Amino acid sequence: MNKIRIRLTLIFIMLIGFSLIAAGLYMGGLMKDSHLNALREGMVREAEIILATMDWQTEGTEEDLMNYFDIKAKKLKNPSNTRITFIRQDGKVLGDSAAEPRQMDNHAGREEVIDAAAKGVGYSLRHSVTVDSNLLYAAVPVRQDHVLVGFLRLAVSLEAVETNTNKLWSGLIISLVVLLLLAGVVSYRMAYGLTRPLEQIANVAYQITHMNYKSRVQLNSKDEIGQLGFAINTMADSLQFQMNRIQEEESRLKNVLDNMINGVLMIDSGSRIVLMNRAAEDFLGFSLKELQGKRFDEAKQQYEFTHIIQQCIEQKQHIREEVTFYFPEERTLEINLVPIFHVNGDWTGIVIVLHDISAIRRLERMRSEFVANVSHELRTPIAAVKGFAETLLAGAIDDREVAVPFLQIIHDESDRLNRLIGDILELSKIESKRVPLYFSPIHMQSFVSKTIEMMNAEASSRKISLDPQVDGRIYIEGDEDRLRQIFINLLANGINYTPVGGSIKVKVETLEKVSDGMENAEEMIRITIKDTGIGIPKKDLPRIFERFYRVDKARSRVSGGTGLGLSIVKHLVELHKGSIRVESLVGTGTSFIIDLPVFHK
Ligand code: ADP
Repeated sequence: MNKIRIRLTLIFIMLIGFSLIAAGLYMGGLMKDSHLNALREGMVREAEIILATMDWQTEGTEEDLMNYFDIKAKKLKNPSNTRITFIRQDGKVLGDSAAEPRQMDNHAGREEVIDAAAKGVGYSLRHSVTVDSNLLYAAVPVRQDHVLVGFLRLAVSLEAVETNTNKLWSGLIISLVVLLLLAGVVSYRMAYGLTRPLEQIANVAYQITHMNYKSRVQLNSKDEIGQLGFAINTMADSLQFQMNRIQEEESRLKNVLDNMINGVLMIDSGSRIVLMNRAAEDFLGFSLKELQGKRFDEAKQQYEFTHIIQQCIEQKQHIREEVTFYFPEERTLEINLVPIFHVNGDWTGIVIVLHDISAIRRLERMRSEFVANVSHELRTPIAAVKGFAETLLAGAIDDREVAVPFLQIIHDESDRLNRLIGDILELSKIESKRVPLYFSPIHMQSFVSKTIEMMNAEASSRKISLDPQVDGRIYIEGDEDRLRQIFINLLANGINYTPVGGSIKVKVETLEKVSDGMENAEEMIRITIKDTGIGIPKKDLPRIFERFYRVDKARSRVSGGTGLGLSIVKHLVELHKGSIRVESLVGTGTSFIIDLPVFHK
């Protein structure tokens, strides 16, 4: 902007300077001319006066005439400081105030003399060698009875005129310089006034290109510059509006991307990673910061993953793969790679969507394992039934001593089969949430004593005491049948895995309200069923609630267990929105601890 200002100032100065110089030259010339004209007129007048006051001698010898005219010339010179020359009509100089006429050449060819003869008055401006200065000559013809007898020529030095002109010139130059200086200052001010708003506009434009969309031009003028400022402001308004919209949209998109369960990754046509959402960061164990701008094959990813990206880049076709990742944790990811094309058909990169299917795969695995387990569990009693029936058919039936225990085994095994099938059906019903719960208020004390009564026969046959410790004020909301199933399963286990003479305590108590800062913290009760049995080894504790899991298969078989009891219990507790855990010490006993909410919403 400064350059424009300086350029403008220089242009102004040059324009003003040129016009001043032109005006000066014109004025100087004019003054010099008028000076010369005045001088010429004065000289002609002086010549006329001289001629009027003198007698032009024509008679006599040339010598006489020269004497006469020369004396006259020298006499007249002093008062006017004018050089006077008397010239005969043939050009012979008769007298001269400044020189010796006898030494002077013929003046008939002098410009002023020729002009005087032709026009009545003649002027000439030239350097006189005789007096060595610039002289202005004026010659008038002298006539007697209309006959040309000579010329009177006057000459004045131009020194005075030149001095005057020089003075004028120096005056002019000084005023020109002063004027130029003034013009400079004024021009600079004007240029500043012109460029300042432009400077402001340029500054705002610069701010806008540097993303400061709030910057505005402060101009009130209505001229073109004001209009330009207004246009810039309008442009900035619309830019700001659009940028806001873009930012809003961007943050909305980012929100969507970041809160997606699926991982999203984008690779540009230069094979560089340009986008990665939070889920993708979790799945891959790298942050976008670490990978952004990197080529996908430099991103230290699992070989299989890198390979399918490469494949998608080469084939430019949708690829779907399932890959198990081992870093940062074991996961099975379904990977969809979709090439993206520009409207004009150009390939611009690929979008990769990662979907964590570990849970689905785990569930599928569990389901097939379950089916395998069920088949296996069913096969054992069926094989026993079949085997013994075959032996009986083969002839053992006739030996009563053998046949009766065999038939007993067949009976027990089919009983077990029946229980097993019953438990499997029950479990699958509970697992698939097909059992509706019927909630009603349950008075825990009478509920527990009734349940214990049902188990009493079994317990006393093994001399195991069942000992309830229930606060009589406790009521809960629950499905009584399901709750009973929980108690019976746990009590049956207790009786089964407790040696003769042991005891099982059933304790129901209210839990201290867990204060989590909320006003109505949930009211909970705790049920503890604690036996003095054989206990469960530590290594088996985490798996105890799994289907068909038994610590000691043979023992469980003898006691008629199916390995499904605890699984069913855990599901029923969870249906009641409660939790169950186990504490056990081998040889000392086992405690099952159930926490249940008092109310159900
Ligand atoms: P089961 O029908 O075999 O009892 P459960 O699912 O009820 O199956 O129990 C699984 C396994 O947990 C049992 O086989 C047993 O080894 C162990 N178990 C369960 N309850 C007790 C307990 N009170 N004391 C010791 N071991 C127990």
